[in-house]
Amino acid sequence: MDEIVKRSGDRSTTWGILADNGDPASRPCPEPRASLPMLIFDAHLDLGMNALEWNRDLSRPVAEIREREISRGLSDKVDRGKSTVSLPDMRRAQVGICVATMIARGVPGKSMLKSLPGFASPEIAWAMTQAQLSWYRAMEEAGEMAQIVDLATLRKYVGLWQSEPSERLPVAYILSLEGADSILTPRHLERAYAAGLRAVGPVHYGPGRYGHGTHSTGGLTSIGRELLAEMRRLGIILDVTHLSDESFWEALELWDGPVWASHNNCRALVDDQRQFSDEQIKELIRRGAVIGAAFDAWMLVSDWQRGKSTPEETGVSLRHVIDHVDHVCQLAGNANHAAIGTDLDGGFGREQSPGDLDTIADLQKLPAMFAERDYAPADVEKLMHGNWIGFLERTWGKHGASAK
Ligand SMILES: [Zn+2]
Repeated sequence: MDEIVKRSGDRSTTWGILADNGDPASRPCPEPRASLPMLIFDAHLDLGMNALEWNRDLSRPVAEIREREISRGLSDKVDRGKSTVSLPDMRRAQVGICVATMIARGVPGKSMLKSLPGFASPEIAWAMTQAQLSWYRAMEEAGEMAQIVDLATLRKYVGLWQSEPSERLPVAYILSLEGADSILTPRHLERAYAAGLRAVGPVHYGPGRYGHGTHSTGGLTSIGRELLAEMRRLGIILDVTHLSDESFWEALELWDGPVWASHNNCRALVDDQRQFSDEQIKELIRRGAVIGAAFDAWMLVSDWQRGKSTPEETGVSLRHVIDHVDHVCQLAGNANHAAIGTDLDGGFGREQSPGDLDTIADLQKLPAMFAERDYAPADVEKLMHGNWIGFLERTWGKHGASAK
């Protein structure tokens, strides 16, 4: 984009690209052609869940998906007629690569909190994740999506999206699992790995089978500790998003493998246990993690009341996303550990998103906004895609994702 080469003033807080010292983390991303919009890598979308549980045909433009829900008078979900994500809208703004989830909560018996949605058993949750996987496969067959499973496929789709983005390129995705309730046994994790699963967040909201998640208190369960060992054996990335504080620290004590946080904001800016404390962020930085900023309005501004607040009245905007990204950069002293993981289809739509975002295509506003905050062009590229790609290069270069 033209805007990103614009530099303003002397208040520069940029860090530039480090000299190439052999560490892939410090290697610059390939230069995109100047006339193209910037490649965007979104590390958290629940596409499969939206297709199956919201019954959305994501191969259609957002406008059409909204219109279908409005014309049918649907009101079973709060975000009916207000969705922001679809594959054509992603392509339109060069959101060419994403991490896409399988997600299905399922805790048997009384341990499932009544206030949380979910399936009645882990077996049902497993079946739902398999249905979501089946939808991803159908999208692949239709040429709408393509799965990234190793360095070769990563480089192929980064190259295609950098050099010749078009309306016809498949959106490339890395398969992840948000909350592992559905993993019935270690054998099931191995099967999911064979199907392309490359990152796992062991918990979601509340207590889960493998540990404690958002807004609950407690550590990992004994099978949670076993799950981590099996993930490590397979070379699966640990996603620390949603871990309770106790589970977070316990997991990191046990874990010496690749770790990221696909969609997590900063407690220093919006005080809630769902967000990371500065101490947690610093530990993740020390381990070479990348932290994706989430776009859910309540995680961006402190005064948000779910179901009551509106983007108009609170003024929540993409500027607040940048505040969270910037906070991570300030703690790191560089732009190597922050990025985006929007979660824009995570059970909410426009009613709970930044007011200056109509669809996911508006992510393309971000490069210019970072430039206005005095981020150097090379740093903007890291935040928009380079840090995630560098993380995967580093991880899969070492462990060889497809070798298992
Ligand atoms: Zn989430």
